[in-house]
Amino acid sequence: MYLAGNMQLSFASYPFTPILGWSISRYEVFDKCKRQYFYTYYSKYVAEVPAYKMKRLRELTSIPLETGNVVHDVLEAFLKRLQKSDRNIDEGRFFDYAHELVKRYFSEKTFIEQYYNGEQRIDLDRVIDKIDTALRNFMNSHCYNWIFMVALHNRDNWIIEPAGYGETRLDGMKVYCKMDFLLPVDECIYILDWKTGNRDQAKHAQQLIGYSAAASSLFAIPWNRIFPRIVYLYPAFDEMEIRVTDEDRDRFFARVREQTEVMYQWCSDIENNIPLSVEAFTKSPSPSLCSQCRFRELCFPDCRPCGREKTNALDGEDAT
Ligand code: SF4
Repeated sequence: MYLAGNMQLSFASYPFTPILGWSISRYEVFDKCKRQYFYTYYSKYVAEVPAYKMKRLRELTSIPLETGNVVHDVLEAFLKRLQKSDRNIDEGRFFDYAHELVKRYFSEKTFIEQYYNGEQRIDLDRVIDKIDTALRNFMNSHCYNWIFMVALHNRDNWIIEPAGYGETRLDGMKVYCKMDFLLPVDECIYILDWKTGNRDQAKHAQQLIGYSAAASSLFAIPWNRIFPRIVYLYPAFDEMEIRVTDEDRDRFFARVREQTEVMYQWCSDIENNIPLSVEAFTKSPSPSLCSQCRFRELCFPDCRPCGREKTNALDGEDAT
């Protein structure tokens, strides 16, 4: 038996190494636009832009991203509260808390939609409506009932939004695989990942295989006892769960190795993760990609419509 129902799950920690680590999102950025990849992962090597400016651009967020963050943080608070108490949820307070987070996050951060597109005011009613729908979908789902009926028995061993970036080792490679919620049930581990965006079958299937691999490596559990699941919360509740075969696992390891080695080729010093010069990171402009890119003004200096440094999302006034 590999895992007793009451086993305490804990994450390994690794001594710092500068070498790059593979993640789905890192390779996705690399694959789409090398210049965006350079600005995202090697910003300290950008010589022609002041560091404060790079930091500001890297911190730009978007309405879909913050909407997802609010839902994640509300569910994190909900699960942590459930770990301590069986009391029924006070729905009014639950939604008030979500709305409080919306106000806080949307007033503190700078949004790509305003910074580049000049939107005067973000429609917070629409944001709140989407968040309320996602949370209601969750509360009316069988997943919610399952957590209460089955998973609650071992709640002391839940891992909710673990800290850090999810560093692990797969087949000897450094990999980052961040999971939202891990919970042991009997001799198995379930991994839930909340999504408020669209379903992407191919990408999300890879993500689930990555979760299986990471959990198997971190906790020394066979793959057939790990059940990773994507939980879609908007516009309707849906789930995606896959059975990972030995072939899936072998293909996944081969892909991670190949993609890691390709990314190494853009390093002048692989061990210390020092990139080639910026010219090697070519731009791949496309309307769909550039319109969502934080670094648009570095590629297209004329793209700022109003030249404002920061806009308050709540009131539409300049904050600086
Ligand atoms: S603006 Fe377009 S070309 Fe420039 S880094 Fe972003 S995605 Fe690449």
